[in-house]
Amino acid sequence: MRYQRPKGTADILPGESEKWQYIEETARMLFSDYRYREIRTPMFENFDVFSRTSGETSDIVTKEMYDFHDKGDRHITLRPEGTAGVVRAFIENKLYGPDVQKPVKVFYAGPMFRYERPQSGRLREFHQIGVEAFGSESPELDVEVIAMAMDLLQHFGIKDLKLTINTLGDKETRENYRQALIGYLEPHFDELSDDSKERLHKNPLRVLDSKAPEDQKFVENAPSILDYLTDNAKNHFDKVTNLLERLGINYVVDSTIVRGLDYYNHTIFEIMANSKALGSGYTTICAGGRYDGLVSELGGPEVSGIGFGLGVERLLLLMDSEKVEFPQFNPLDVYVVAIGENASLESLEVVQALRYRGFSADRDYLSRKPKAQFKSADKLHANFTITIGDKELENNTVNLKSMETGKEVSVSLNSVKNDFSAVIEKNFD
Ligand code: ATP
Ligand code: MG
Repeated sequence: MRYQRPKGTADILPGESEKWQYIEETARMLFSDYRYREIRTPMFENFDVFSRTSGETSDIVTKEMYDFHDKGDRHITLRPEGTAGVVRAFIENKLYGPDVQKPVKVFYAGPMFRYERPQSGRLREFHQIGVEAFGSESPELDVEVIAMAMDLLQHFGIKDLKLTINTLGDKETRENYRQALIGYLEPHFDELSDDSKERLHKNPLRVLDSKAPEDQKFVENAPSILDYLTDNAKNHFDKVTNLLERLGINYVVDSTIVRGLDYYNHTIFEIMANSKALGSGYTTICAGGRYDGLVSELGGPEVSGIGFGLGVERLLLLMDSEKVEFPQFNPLDVYVVAIGENASLESLEVVQALRYRGFSADRDYLSRKPKAQFKSADKLHANFTITIGDKELENNTVNLKSMETGKEVSVSLNSVKNDFSAVIEKNFD
């Protein structure tokens, strides 16, 4: 019996995993400069956490949930996105309390699960890096979050980025716009896709997010939410666009973007990249927005929030197609070549002594001939080889060779074990 990984999942193998580590480490460092701290929430939550927050008519809830009943008959969902679980944790752990510094800024990184049709950049288990900031309605915070996302992508060497923003306004804005949209779409009801027919009255904004070709011409000519903004909503959005300009961040306003989740209001944004790796044209790799009603929707106090999620698989496709150079995986300082059985025993002591002092070291475990061992040292790009044979054992020395210059010296075994730095400095600098 041969097993295969489940459809839509991937094995991240050595060679590839170092790229993931680099991405995660870079994000961690950048987030900490912006004073965001890590939060780790469960990979699964009660079904309601997502159905309440993502919206009953969203693709995620209607089609993509990995949900099941556990042995205790609890309705469980593997998380399809990060925000809902973080909000649940924010409320449950009372991170809004008077002693907590606001805004509360957190980030997460980890796997998400959606039952989708797998294709390039679309998996069933995929990974997101995301941030959330709670407890401030300030448009400055919206811009900080957007600037941070752009900053991160630029750190990864991605050049052709397009920032698209829109506003969903406040409650009153959305209510007025909803009516206008229903009024506009109703006469075309019969021509809409089945999904859009279903959503027209429940949540007409969803129709704008439709990917069905038959809906596209209606999306293009739909009334714009920007014509329905209240003074408050317009004021917020103007501040955001102004601040983006002050920071020199280019953007385009696209009033048809609504985002896949129902909980957004005011600023929403998508960062797209233009790359053949993701298909033709611009593809979204990072998306987010403000969700001021979400915390109370999940039973918490009226606390506002804003965040984004970035798809790591899509980011990697992009970085590979842009030929971004990843830093080299921890280079090998020393390869120890042992000639004979006694030398092999000594060789383990030597690699361990080096490792205890923070050097990376390796040796042979297949009793190979010296020639094959030297080949390994070459292949692994070792900076130095140490050779130990019977003669060296007798004299308590080793042969130390720089692989770069070919220079060889005989040095004492003890000095190598106890102070390899000094040995290098003395003989090779
Ligand atoms: P799409 O319109 O492509 O389905 P979405 O609106 O469902 O995207 P979000 O829920 O906003 O995506 O998730 C944020 C990011 O996570 C996306 O921009 C993308 O990079 C990534 N992402 C979403 N779904 C998947 C998936 N199934 N596989 C890989 N990455 C994904
Ligand atoms: Mg989707």
